[in-house]
Amino acid sequence: GYRKGGYHAVRIGDRFSAGRYVAQRKLGWGNFSTVWLAYDTLSSKYVAIKIQKSAKQYAESALHEIDILSSIAQGDASNSKCVIKLLDHFKHGGPNGQHQCLVTEFLGDSLLKLIRYNRKKGIGLHQVRQLSKSVLAGLDYLHRELGIIHTDLKPENVLLVSTIDPTKDPTRTDVPPLLERSEGNPVPIKVNVAEKWLKLRANRAVAKISLRRVSLGGAMEVDNRSLEGVDLRCKIVDFGNAVRANEELMEEIQTREYRAPEVIIGSGYSFSADMWSFACLVFELATGDTLFVPKPGEGFTEDEDHLAQMMELLGKMPKQIAISGSRSKDYFDRHGDLKRIRRLKFWPMDKLLVEKYSFTETDANNLSNFLCPLLDFEPEKRPTASQCLVHKWITDS
Ligand code: ADP
Ligand code: MG
Repeated sequence: GYRKGGYHAVRIGDRFSAGRYVAQRKLGWGNFSTVWLAYDTLSSKYVAIKIQKSAKQYAESALHEIDILSSIAQGDASNSKCVIKLLDHFKHGGPNGQHQCLVTEFLGDSLLKLIRYNRKKGIGLHQVRQLSKSVLAGLDYLHRELGIIHTDLKPENVLLVSTIDPTKDPTRTDVPPLLERSEGNPVPIKVNVAEKWLKLRANRAVAKISLRRVSLGGAMEVDNRSLEGVDLRCKIVDFGNAVRANEELMEEIQTREYRAPEVIIGSGYSFSADMWSFACLVFELATGDTLFVPKPGEGFTEDEDHLAQMMELLGKMPKQIAISGSRSKDYFDRHGDLKRIRRLKFWPMDKLLVEKYSFTETDANNLSNFLCPLLDFEPEKRPTASQCLVHKWITDS
C-alpha cells in the first residue's frame, strides 16, 4: 500500500518532472504501480504516467520495462506498430521514497472491459478480426524485429486506440479542463461524461455494448452505441514481464488462463508461447467466454485440470511432448496419460462453437481452422504472427 517502499499517493493537480505533467485522474493500477492520466504542459497533450512503488525490486523492474520500451520506441519512429509508445521517464521523490515513472501515450479502455460488456456474446467476428490484426502486427514487430517475448498477453494488457485525431474531432464535448490544485484547495474529481453514460447504461442492463470515441488524446472508451462501422484498433501494453528471447528466461510466466502447456510442464518456451495466449484472447473476443478456466478439484491440481481441459478441446497431447518437461512426472504416467484425471470428455473447437455458442458451421470451421494450429501442443508447429497475418481468416473480410 501507501507506505515506505510502496505506492506514491497522488492528488489531482499534483505536478511531476519539474512541473511538466499535471495529474488528472487515476486510470488503473497493478501490484507494482498506479497509472495516472496527466496533462503534459510541454506538448499540450494528455499522457499516461505509471508511477512505480519505490522499493528496490520495483524500481529494478521499472528500469527493465523502460529498457524494453526504449527498444520498442526506437524501432517504431512512426508509432504505427501496435505497441504502446514510451514518451519520457523520470524519478519522483515522495514521502515513501524515490519512484520510477514511465510516461506513455494515453490509450483507451482495455479489451477486458470490451469483453465484460459483451459477456457470453462476443463482440462480433468483424471486430474480432480487426483487433486480431492489430495484436498480430504488434506481436510480429516484437518477435521478428526485436526478439522480445511479451509473456503476459491477455485482454487487460491490450488497450483500444482511437482512429481519429482528437484535436480535430467535432463531436468532443467531454474533454475535462486542465485540473489544477490551488493552495490547500483540492479540485474535486470530475467524472468523465463517458463514464457516467457507461454506468447508467450498465445499470439498465442494456446488453448491446460497443464503443464510443471519447477523444482524450486518442483514447477510446467502451459504451453503448453500435460497433458497426467503427474501425477498431488496439495496442499491446504492459512490458513489465517481457523478456529478450536470447536472455535467461524465468520459469513461470503468463497469467493462468493464457498459459501455454510447455510452461506448465516445464519444457522451455519461446515466441510461440505468446501465440498460444493470442489464440486464447481471440476465442474470448469471439465468444465472450474465457477458453480455459482451470480449477483444482478432489485429487487433482489446477495445473492438471488445465492440461485436461486443453486435451478435451485439442485431443490427446502426444506422448513425446507430454513426457518432455522438467515437471512432466508430476502430471503424466509413463504412457503419457494424466495420472489423476483418467476420463476426458472431448469437445473439439468447431463443435463447441456451434453447440455452445451458436455459431454457423461456416463461421465455426473458419475460426477453428485459424485458432487450432495456434494451439498446437508442439510449440514449434504453431504459426508465427507474420504467418497469421496472411491467413485467410485474417485477410478475408
Ligand atoms: P501493471 O504492470 O501494474 O499491470 P499496466 O501497465 O498493465 O501495469 O497498467 C495497469 C492498468 O492501467 C492497465 O490495465 C490499464 O487499465 C491502465 N493503463 C496503463 N497504461 C495506460 C495508458 N497508456 N493509457 C490508458 N490506460 C492505461
Ligand atoms: Mg497489466
